[in-house]
Amino acid sequence: MAQQADVFKKLVAHCKEYGFVFPSSEIYDGLAAVYDYGQYGVELKNNIKKYWWDSMVLLHDNVVGLDAAIFMHPTVWKASGHVDAFNDPLIDNKDSKKRYRADVLIEDLMQKIEEKINKEITKAKKRFGDSFDEKQFRETNPRVIANQKKLNEIHSRFTKALNDNDLEELRQIIIDYEIVDPVSGTKNWTEVRQFNLMFSTEMGSTADGAQKIYLRPETAQGIFVNYLNVQKTGRMKLPFGIAQIGKAFRNEIVARQFIFRMREFEQMEMQFFVRPGEELKWFEYWKEKRMKWHKSLGMGDEKYRFHDHDKLAHYANAATDIEFKMPFGFKEVEGIHSRTDFDLSSHQEYSGKKLQYFDPELNKNYVPYVIETSIGVDRMFLSVLAGAYNEEEIEGKDGKKETRVVLNLPPVLAPVKLAVLPLVKKDGLPELAKKIVNDLKFDFNCQYDEKDSIGRRYRRQDAIGTPYCITIDHQSLEDNTVTIRHRDTMQQERVKIEKLRDIIADKVSLREVLKKLV
Ligand code: ATP
Repeated sequence: MAQQADVFKKLVAHCKEYGFVFPSSEIYDGLAAVYDYGQYGVELKNNIKKYWWDSMVLLHDNVVGLDAAIFMHPTVWKASGHVDAFNDPLIDNKDSKKRYRADVLIEDLMQKIEEKINKEITKAKKRFGDSFDEKQFRETNPRVIANQKKLNEIHSRFTKALNDNDLEELRQIIIDYEIVDPVSGTKNWTEVRQFNLMFSTEMGSTADGAQKIYLRPETAQGIFVNYLNVQKTGRMKLPFGIAQIGKAFRNEIVARQFIFRMREFEQMEMQFFVRPGEELKWFEYWKEKRMKWHKSLGMGDEKYRFHDHDKLAHYANAATDIEFKMPFGFKEVEGIHSRTDFDLSSHQEYSGKKLQYFDPELNKNYVPYVIETSIGVDRMFLSVLAGAYNEEEIEGKDGKKETRVVLNLPPVLAPVKLAVLPLVKKDGLPELAKKIVNDLKFDFNCQYDEKDSIGRRYRRQDAIGTPYCITIDHQSLEDNTVTIRHRDTMQQERVKIEKLRDIIADKVSLREVLKKLV
């Protein structure tokens, strides 16, 4: 675990050093849980968004896009339940004066117990080799039995407390299981209170009563209030979906996990409107589709898992998360929710406007049910970087060992696709290199670099995850060939300049990854 925390720290430092992510307003010492994306960060982020957008809107003829405003009528948030119920249970430690989410403290404890169990199993697996029977081990090892019992007890109390909205019981779990504040190390806790996560501001002149409005805490409501506009103008037939990418804002209590939990972040959400009664079938459909989308990036299937919700939101009749193995454990990257007709019905009630669908097959009107897929761009970004970050021991100059820091990013997401490097800064090599860049820049994000030794230039490209380095040498002038170096293997091959576009396109084009999804 210590090692993993170390990896996370290195990753955060790497993001800053190589222009992926900077703290917001850094010259003023930053703003908690707000971040800016640098020159490579913005490219990676755009590539993630394009992968998502194209997979939704291009590949499904019944999914269309939308770009709704961030500011919305305040009643939207009354109807959606956010004004009354978009709360997190918070608890303070009286000694450190730090604030925590009570549910997260308990979840962390459960994760620690699970890790203990897994450690025992891994140890035993090593000891017994092929003859190891995990089921039998779980049923007989006293330490595993005791930990599993404790885990089950906490889990059932926790789920009940969440479902009953029982804040006292949440606190009691923290007391009973002796959860300590990681900062002060004490158990001196306050009561648990609810805290609304929405930011508000004012619109209009204050003199004649400005209106209190909210910064949207999710993009979904912009889709719901436009359901009828899109359905009518697009002549959409059920089932159909509306996809949107945009900023969302939450006044998060705990703001210590880099871009995992931000106060300003970006979501990619899709609401899929279906016939009532068919929602669970579509829920399964989108679960499978979305997992495939993640896995098709080739970062390793074992890094993903589903996690079904212990507590269903008041509007949902099924919900699951797609979790990614971050350096700090499996964490939610995407939520898939069956939201019933809650949102549309509620907007119908509050607005007094009918938000229904006339189903010609059934010959009747009804409020559609909704399946939502909701993924955070920033969490996806973090998961991609966490999966890609590697430190390798390699043999450097004079046979000395050195560390190569490389981002093994999925080529389709890499900010720069190829770097063109003249071996020396003379003899016409820079001219040929620039000619190649000028030719390929219409297809790919290319970089030209002539500074420092070729080895150092390769390292710089490895550190930002560039899948290909093209080196121009004297032979290139004679026979129009160049070497192409592959980031992951560091292998080099000689190829004709005119073949470059096809070779690179084959590996980095979105087309190839999208084709895997259908
Ligand atoms: P969590 O339980 O971690 O607070 P959530 O269940 O409240 O997340 P949703 O409301 O389902 O999250 O939001 C959908 C997605 O938006 C999440 O899966 C996540 O990727 C992203 N997201 C939510 N809150 C944040 C945040 N504060 N910072 C970055 N991304 C976020």
